[in-house]
Formats: sequence, C-alpha cells, structure tokens
Amino acid sequence: MSDASPPVRRVTDWEFDRLTGAAEAHDTPLYVLDTERVRANYERFAGAFADALADPHVMYAAKAHTGRRVLETLLDAGADIECAARGELQRAIAAGADPDTLQYTAVNPPAADLDYAADLGADHPGLTITAGARDTFDRLERRGYDGRVAIRVNPGIGTGHHEKVATGKDAKFGIPADEVADLAAELQERFDLVGIHAHVGSGVLHGDLDDHCRAIATVANIAREVQHENGADLEFVDFGGGFGVPYHEDEEPLDVSVVAERVSEAVGDLDATVALEPGRYVVADAEVILARVNTVKQTPESTVVGVDASLATLVRPAMFDSYHPIANVSAPDREREPVSVGGPCCTSADVFCTDRPLARPKRGDLLAIGNAGAYGYELASQFHSQPRPAEVAFEGDSTRLVRRRETMVDVTRVEDELDDTHIGDEGGDTHVERQHADR
Ligand SMILES: *Cc1c(COP(=O)(O)O)cnc(C)c1O
Repeated sequence: MSDASPPVRRVTDWEFDRLTGAAEAHDTPLYVLDTERVRANYERFAGAFADALADPHVMYAAKAHTGRRVLETLLDAGADIECAARGELQRAIAAGADPDTLQYTAVNPPAADLDYAADLGADHPGLTITAGARDTFDRLERRGYDGRVAIRVNPGIGTGHHEKVATGKDAKFGIPADEVADLAAELQERFDLVGIHAHVGSGVLHGDLDDHCRAIATVANIAREVQHENGADLEFVDFGGGFGVPYHEDEEPLDVSVVAERVSEAVGDLDATVALEPGRYVVADAEVILARVNTVKQTPESTVVGVDASLATLVRPAMFDSYHPIANVSAPDREREPVSVGGPCCTSADVFCTDRPLARPKRGDLLAIGNAGAYGYELASQFHSQPRPAEVAFEGDSTRLVRRRETMVDVTRVEDELDDTHIGDEGGDTHVERQHADR
C-alpha cells in the first residue's frame, strides 16, 4: 500500500487558525483530535507491515486512547482492537467492534474483568484471551472458559533501553521463557491455544530497533519451539506494540517500512500470522491540547507562564518526565525566550516545560501542547476538582464536539447520588461476591 501521509506531524504542522477557532468555540483547555491523522497513521503502519510480511494482523491497542471516535475511525479503517481491561472491551463493542474479533490481554485481571471476558467468550468463540500468569488461566477455567487463549511470554531480555523499567515491574508481565513449553502443553488440554504473545518494548525509535528485534527473535524462537515440540497449532505470534513517536522536535520519526523489514527478518520463517498491536504510534501525533495563558510572572531565575491546562489534563510530563512540544499559536513569530510553563495545581510536578525557548507568551495567548493523543485524555483526572476538558475532532473540514467538557455536576455525581441510596446496595455486594469466587 502506498500512502503519502508524512511519518510525523509536529505541533507546528497543525493549522493555527483552525486551532484558534476551536478554542474560541469550545473554550480551553481543549483536546483537539484529527481523525484523518489517526486513520493515516494506522494505514501507514498496516501498509508497511503488509508489504514486508504475508498477511500480518494489525490491531489497535485501545488503552492509548479509548475515545469512541478513535475506535470508530480505526474500525472503519479495518483495524481490529486489542483491549487490556473489561471497560476497553465494552467500549470497543459500543464503538461497533465485533466481539469475535477482539483480543483481551489480561494483566492481573480483576475478578469482574474475567467474569465479563469469560461470558463474552461463551457467546463469541472468536474472542481471544491472552494471559501471562498460570493463575489467570486457572481463574478462567474456573469460570467455565475453554476458548481461545494465547500465552504472554516474558522473553527476559530487553535490557538496554528498558533500563528505566524496574525488573520487579517486568516480572509482572508474562511467563518466563523457559516455562512456556510446559505451560503450553498443559493449556492445549484445557483451552484452544492459538497464540504466543509478547509486548516487548515501549517508545521504540530507530536507535532501539536492535534491542527490540532481539526480543522479537527470542519470542519467535519460543513460538517455533511450542509448535515443533508440543505440536501446537498456533494461529498467530503477537509482538505487541511499543512503536515510538518523536516527541522531541529534533527526533526522527520511525520509518515504518524499515521497521517492518527488520521485524520480518527478526521473526524469520514462521508458520503463523504475525500480529502487532500499536497504540501510541497510531494516535500520539493526531491530537493536541489547547491551553490559554493565565499569568506571566518574571522571577530573577526564570519566566513562569501559567496556563489553564495542568497535570490533571496531561499527566505524562509529571508521571514519566515526558517531553511534549509546545507552540504559541497566538504569536508563533514572536521572539523566543526561555520560559517554564505550568498549570494551576499546587505541586511542583505541574510543569509542562522548564526554561524552554518559546515565542514569548503573553497573558491571553493560546498555546498548543503537541503529541497529546496517546495516554493523554486517557490519563486525565479531576485532581483539584477540575472537570475534565472537552475534546473536539477535526473530521475533514468539519469540527465536531466528541466529548463535552465536564462540569462540577460530573465531579460530584458519585457523591451526590449516594444521598438517595445506602452503602451495601447491589454494587458493593456484587464485588465482594466476585472476590469470593476467585478463592
Ligand atoms: C500498552 C500495550 C500496547 C500498546 O503499546 P504502545 O506503546 O502504546 O504501542 C500493546 N499491547 C499491549 C498488550 C499493551 O499492554
């Protein structure tokens, strides 16, 4: 498939007039999604892999952005959906996904999530459930599930660019490589074992490809072992997501055709479909946050710019130290000056940048925070009793409100509703019963 869409959209590539209009019509802070960009990213990725591999299966990992318009757009583009929680399954189905095409990756799944998935699988035998702990398979069996499963493998490598991830956390994901064959033999008796799965990287760019491909080769070897020694009839080997986007202006975007070639080489000869689950890559540069400058304060050390977006709007800088590009939409050509931009939350973590050269912001200016589509709204909170922002979608020439701005009614509803009910009503008891079913 040839696709002319550029491999990256920088924050400065957005049409500033259109962003200004959206902020005026819908107020700030505001998430602005471009559904055509979502589609183009998916098509570029899927097209590159289709050129490099025979019939790859590309799913969208919903947790990066579960907004209904994103899911609808990707379903319309032909993507299947990978879900890692009950709520994601429900939202994928609500957006029109056929449950028989869904894949559910159960990581330390709560009882209610397994209940839901097992029930869904009973009605929809096409559902695939991936698990990375023996215990999870036992819990599924106890719920009467005997359908399609995949084993999530922990290939035990991925040092190098994974250094920042604590090994204790790594152990949370997947079956150790040397236990997979034994488990596979067991599972073949109890379920329909259809796949091997591993999600081996995060934010992988060209410099990380060697490590990433080493991990992929390891997982492919494990799959071949399970096929040959256990005679397992594997339908797919799934290498997860983890494909990165350039958050920094000076980082190069992935050339996905190169990535697809490298992945194809690393996989080698394999009698199974290669599956992939990009999340971030599909949505990151398809969304920006618009924020209004409230205050500009000169201090002897620096210029502090206060905006109306905060870590409640976008937590990645506070949580992961992430860099997000920022543009002054109101005055892109103004002289640059190092400024720190932060929100109204009472914590020093509430900063989007520190001493970064920006077109000098003035009170009332509109700033755009780029690359906000992945793990952006998805991780937004109501910290400081702030209603979550609205989201609009650019769809061709039209602009459509796709999530209204929350109000204080939304913030306090979960308390207000209790005025008419009593603790111990159905919701609470059901949860307690579910926990008992797992003992
Ligand atoms: C998070 C996740 C993904 C997507 O990861 P990205 O880095 O957003 O591409 C894919 N598969 C699984 C199982 C995941 O948990």
